[in-house]
Amino acid sequence: ISRLAKFDPQVAAAISDEEDRQQAHVELIASENYASQAVMEAQGTQLTNKYAEGYPGKRYYGGCEHVDVVEQLAMDRACALFGCDYANVQPHSGAQANAAAFMALVSPGDTVLGMSLAHGGHLTHGAAPNFSGKHYNAIQYGLDEATGEIDYAEVERLANEHQPKLIVAGFSAYSQIVDWRRFRNIADSVGAWLLVDMAHVAGLVAAGLYPSPLPHAHVVTTTTHKTLRGPRGGLILSASGDETLYRKLNGAVFPGQQGGPLMHVIAAKAVAFREAMSQEFVRYQERVVSNAQRMAEVFLERGYDVVSGGTKDHLFLVSLIQQGVTGKDADAALGRAHITVNKNAVPGDPQSPFVTSGLRIGTPAVTTRGFDGDDCEALAGWICDVIDELAAGRDTTDIEGRVREQVATLCGRHPVYPQVAQ
Ligand code: PLP
Repeated sequence: ISRLAKFDPQVAAAISDEEDRQQAHVELIASENYASQAVMEAQGTQLTNKYAEGYPGKRYYGGCEHVDVVEQLAMDRACALFGCDYANVQPHSGAQANAAAFMALVSPGDTVLGMSLAHGGHLTHGAAPNFSGKHYNAIQYGLDEATGEIDYAEVERLANEHQPKLIVAGFSAYSQIVDWRRFRNIADSVGAWLLVDMAHVAGLVAAGLYPSPLPHAHVVTTTTHKTLRGPRGGLILSASGDETLYRKLNGAVFPGQQGGPLMHVIAAKAVAFREAMSQEFVRYQERVVSNAQRMAEVFLERGYDVVSGGTKDHLFLVSLIQQGVTGKDADAALGRAHITVNKNAVPGDPQSPFVTSGLRIGTPAVTTRGFDGDDCEALAGWICDVIDELAAGRDTTDIEGRVREQVATLCGRHPVYPQVAQ
């Protein structure tokens, strides 16, 4: 970034500091990852200069012949990767993809049934402050608090009672396998559309390690930057074969929700989809899951309550209710030890959503930088050491310092990007 450093040292310094932070801290936020250098190279190109409203071959601007190639490659690769015949690669983010899907499927005021934010759903699944909760009559389902698993009987009961036009399945914090077929059966029983937001598990789905929602959902949305490890962005897919629906989805993205597509980001998405087709990507996703399971086992052995008893994907939730520790305090103490997690509401949480009694821990990022099972086991142990001190009401300064040193050694062994290590 020498040209940038010369012209704008303030921005350059902040970028450099963030690069150092990413190298020196352990990243356990389940929705984050490190995109490859090929993905970042594609994103940092002249394609950012091009307006391309419309779709390949049907643009509102001239000079689109090369960006058409890029967008068509991205669409074709997305369809091949996920086994479907419709892909829209233009949504700027996961939230935009969901907004477009809602726009294509339902009208303002219609009833929609989605998973509540407090139980692991996303804001865009009907939460009150979001467009999905403001413009639609949003009804929310959640978890069975005894098992920590989705309460399908409640989903069925709410669907029968409220007759939604749209059911949303998918999550931001859930460690078990969602029964997509059961959701589709419930949707069919009340004549509703089924939208699956697979943002968190898209990489696992691409690798064949998590059941694909595509055979069951009318529409599937996802982000491209979580387990899928691409640039920040959104994606809409369908294998429904319903051409009318495909036209509606395209119209809902442009001109419904967005103007010009971000062609540089679409190029980076195309590169990420290609990466996700490799055997190496499958091995990576296997390690993501085994690392998450190894960490969850440590928490269980140390007497912590892992919601739903373990994990079958890339993340798990730890409930700290019995320790009397808040997610906010645990998150802050671990942050001082250079371990980044996020506080998260857990079933039966007595605390507010801003404080919470839980942590969400995910392994996509640490696995990308090469942490193996032993590294993850050690890391989970250090996290327990810090929380044990909090639970005992003791000062955590010493333990935070000791863990920070161990984290520095571990991170030094696993550079995020080769040039950072040089
Ligand atoms: N859907 C789910 C399930 C998510 O977890 C998220 C982000 O965390 C989103 C959608 C929104 O994605 P974005 O932040 O790209 O708008």
